[in-house]
Amino acid sequence: MKSIDKKNGFLEYNSTDLLEILTGLGLPKFRLQQVRRWVFARKTTSFDKMTDLSKETRKLLTEQFGSVLQGKELACYRSDDSTEKLLIEWTDGERVECVLLRDNRNHRTACISTQVGCAMGCVFCASGMDGFVRNLSRGEILEQFVRLNSLLPDQERLTHVVVMGIGEPLLNLDALLSALDEVTVSDGFDLSVRRVTISTVGIPSGIRKLAESVVRNGKGYKLAVSLHAPNDGLRTRIIPQNQFSGISEILKAADDYFKQTGRRVTFEYTLIAGLNDQPEHVQQLVHLLKNRTAIINIIPLNPVSELNFQTPSAKTVAWFAGQLESQGVQVKIRFRKGDKIGAACGQLRRVHRTTPTRTG
Ligand code: SAH
Repeated sequence: MKSIDKKNGFLEYNSTDLLEILTGLGLPKFRLQQVRRWVFARKTTSFDKMTDLSKETRKLLTEQFGSVLQGKELACYRSDDSTEKLLIEWTDGERVECVLLRDNRNHRTACISTQVGCAMGCVFCASGMDGFVRNLSRGEILEQFVRLNSLLPDQERLTHVVVMGIGEPLLNLDALLSALDEVTVSDGFDLSVRRVTISTVGIPSGIRKLAESVVRNGKGYKLAVSLHAPNDGLRTRIIPQNQFSGISEILKAADDYFKQTGRRVTFEYTLIAGLNDQPEHVQQLVHLLKNRTAIINIIPLNPVSELNFQTPSAKTVAWFAGQLESQGVQVKIRFRKGDKIGAACGQLRRVHRTTPTRTG
């Protein structure tokens, strides 16, 4: 048996490694399918509850992996609009948050994090306020999905994933893609790849790496790029990372993503009062996006208390969207959910530096 590093928890291993570990333990191959069915289809994360396995097998699995999950749920918050947010602590004491969003079209969406903290430093976002700590592992990313899925009643399952929690996903792409493989594989969570959206601050080399992986594996995930400003001067003020690439390079990588994968790219635009919501910004955006097969997603700012930025009025949001639309740009407005539970990226992790209690 090739030596496989001992890691924490079952979810850290892909199927190939698991098969090797299980057969190395003297278990027949079909045991893997049984365990995977318990975890992914039957929402069971304790080996002890896998009742079609013998007591010895359950003991062996526990000795080998410890448990299916490795984190600890520190808190679960539920808001009036039934958005739920989990704060999870990993074995090294670091914490991330993930969110379950429900809507009236029966979508059940998991919003997951890829890093502890964030190095991008977007000026309006809570995730980067304390800098970057570390990447999450494949298992830690997957565990968020497993835990959010378990919040739903037995007969319901997650229908969508948005990688829009804490961190820059394209800077932890290998772990993310490995986790998403389990989310989208037929004997995993079996979610359509079309229902998975990866949101990036806009790192051209990362977008190209993702496109290559899509072409290689046929998993056409949806890409969303955070634009937030229509010119480089303003964009660098809002997203310091912009100094390393610039808008035209990002748009070129996004165009290539569309050409290579056939998936239309969404541009996110967090609208901030007085900063990027002026008439000249509309005109510059129209110029950038008019001839592109793209859609712009306007996100009215969800204000973070320590940061001095405000949400534009509903009238300004409607005006901004209307101006773009009337000039041929396709627009969607993303209405905020879970405001009262701090559901914007990174807010919960910052508020709770000491152990909170469960609320609901
Ligand atoms: N790092 C990724 C994912 C961030 S979260 C990225 O930059 O795309 C998804 C989107 O929400 C991003 O466009 C992000 O800039 C935006 N966002 C973060 N905090 C926000 C806030 N407080 N209000 C509105 N949008 C926010």
